[in-house]
Amino acid sequence: MSLPTAAAKPAAPRVNPLQRIWLREIGMERLWMRPAPAAARPVIVPQVLVSQPVSALDPVPAIVAKDIAPPPAAPAAVDSAAPVAEPVAKTVAPSTRANGRPGIPASILNRTGPPPRPVPKAAEDEVVEAPRLPVAEAVKNANLDELREQVVACTACGLCEGRRHAVFGQGATPTRWLVVGEAPGEQEDRQGHPFVGRSGQLLDAMLAAVGMSRETDVFITNVIKCRPPGNRNPKPEEIAACSPYLMRQIALLKPERILVLGRFAAQTLLGTDATIGSLRGRLHSLKTDEGAEIPVIVSYHPAYLLRSPSEKARAWQDLKLASRGI
Ligand code: SF4
Repeated sequence: MSLPTAAAKPAAPRVNPLQRIWLREIGMERLWMRPAPAAARPVIVPQVLVSQPVSALDPVPAIVAKDIAPPPAAPAAVDSAAPVAEPVAKTVAPSTRANGRPGIPASILNRTGPPPRPVPKAAEDEVVEAPRLPVAEAVKNANLDELREQVVACTACGLCEGRRHAVFGQGATPTRWLVVGEAPGEQEDRQGHPFVGRSGQLLDAMLAAVGMSRETDVFITNVIKCRPPGNRNPKPEEIAACSPYLMRQIALLKPERILVLGRFAAQTLLGTDATIGSLRGRLHSLKTDEGAEIPVIVSYHPAYLLRSPSEKARAWQDLKLASRGI
């Protein structure tokens, strides 16, 4: 992928009458004409990737118009055009976060990981288990199959107690994209696979719109491998315990892109508290401890898109951004 090295804010595109008719037909006229929301920017800067905004005027495949484009908007008069996508991204390595909210900590990137869970003192007539290695140590030399076995058997945090299945991930290996969500939901926990049900169907349609599929191009996983009770947000210690699995997946899969879906996953992977509205629409960079820099694109979680279909057009922009250079 060739990425420009200098940021240049593009002039606001003008929309001519033919383009406006086209936008109206695919239901994006209002979104395109609406001024972009003010966005808080991440302020820490070490790894920088620069992107140009994705044009909302790119042709939209039929599958997108059918499955992820928003419903047609009623014709409405608009006075001015304004770009939706933000032009430049500056973001940080996940380990640089120092605000108390857990990103993926440096200790995990450095493979030292959290301390082992205390092993209860065994009674004399109990079988004494060998002390477990910290997750970060255990995954260090694991291949993908071994890593899967470790996740399935993992008891490194309390989420193991309520799960039906630990959800390791699913998809193509080798892979081109890694899709990362938050944590398994109820259906994922039941079936042991990521992104099933309506959210999974929408994700598959979104991927198909850019010529990708989980069977041939994409591996899908979550930051947290076991379902938090009631789908609550994962706790800091759960993130710390589970993050080495994701980092090892990234190291093994070496994806060309990482598509991060949803606020929680984006904030955790990028180590920021920035809003998803300010993170999406541009390229970020994840620097692994192997020295690789992997472009990261943030978008909305399919479950959110099902609740807020008007945001599907922005998700389409994010997919177009992710598919650049492929
Ligand atoms: S959430 Fe992660 S760390 Fe916790 S038990 Fe499941 S696999 Fe292990």
